[in-house]
Amino acid sequence: MTDQLQRFIFDQTDIRGEITRLDTSYQETISNHHYPEVVAHLLGEFLAAATLLSATLKFEGTITLQARSEGEIPLIMAEASSDHKLRGIAREADNAVSEDFTKLLTNGQLIITVDPKQGQRYQGIVALEGNNLSECLEAYFLQSEQLSTRVWLASDQQQAVGMMLQELPPSEQVSAEQRQQDWQHISKLAETLTAPELLSLPFDELLYRLYHQEQVRMFEPDALAFQCSCSETRTLNALRTLGREELDSIIEEAGAIEVNCEFCHQHYSFDGTAIAQLFEPTLH
Ligand SMILES: [Zn+2]
Repeated sequence: MTDQLQRFIFDQTDIRGEITRLDTSYQETISNHHYPEVVAHLLGEFLAAATLLSATLKFEGTITLQARSEGEIPLIMAEASSDHKLRGIAREADNAVSEDFTKLLTNGQLIITVDPKQGQRYQGIVALEGNNLSECLEAYFLQSEQLSTRVWLASDQQQAVGMMLQELPPSEQVSAEQRQQDWQHISKLAETLTAPELLSLPFDELLYRLYHQEQVRMFEPDALAFQCSCSETRTLNALRTLGREELDSIIEEAGAIEVNCEFCHQHYSFDGTAIAQLFEPTLH
């Protein structure tokens, strides 16, 4: 299993961690897109980050991490579902070359959307003010959830890796003072982690390297895979928003409406009958 997400906790503390490595799913996400190197790299970080964030979902659903900016990458996004399906994309970023995060995503906003299968969609937005995606995510968690969070991300064209530490809501066993001490101690140790270590070490070795003096408990890893959530029905529903008139005029001109999914390159084609059916009142 190369693509995985694994939870770990520190005994007698209110701190948990998540660690993820994406190999095949990352390569499938960037394949056929011909992204510049810096874009593929950042998309890997977005994908790893969305995966880490999906581990915080307490219900079935999807979490989307999206950045919009006036920089070299106008739009980049990654999506991870509670059942560990991933997809991601960058748009209009063919000329991106900068190694500088703030040039790639100048005047940017980070939009985090939580979309439960049942219930209300929730969206949080923070300005992209950090020097990297990790800093922006840490700011987001502090602002929106008041939870101390640290995130480490790395990507090297072959794989995307991420680790997150997060304070859990206070428990009764741990005093406020102890909480703070634990957090300082555990996060300080993780600050010694380097990107090459994050990319190369197996999870257990990596956690041993950082925390061999702590009581760390690792959970069973979950497998992850690239899978696009597009379908004929979803594509039709998206088309519906264009309105019947617009769709009819395309059919008249081109004979059919052709749609390519930008995430997975799946091709959909709809003729006049399919479009007419879309606007027929349904019987109950
Ligand atoms: Zn698709």
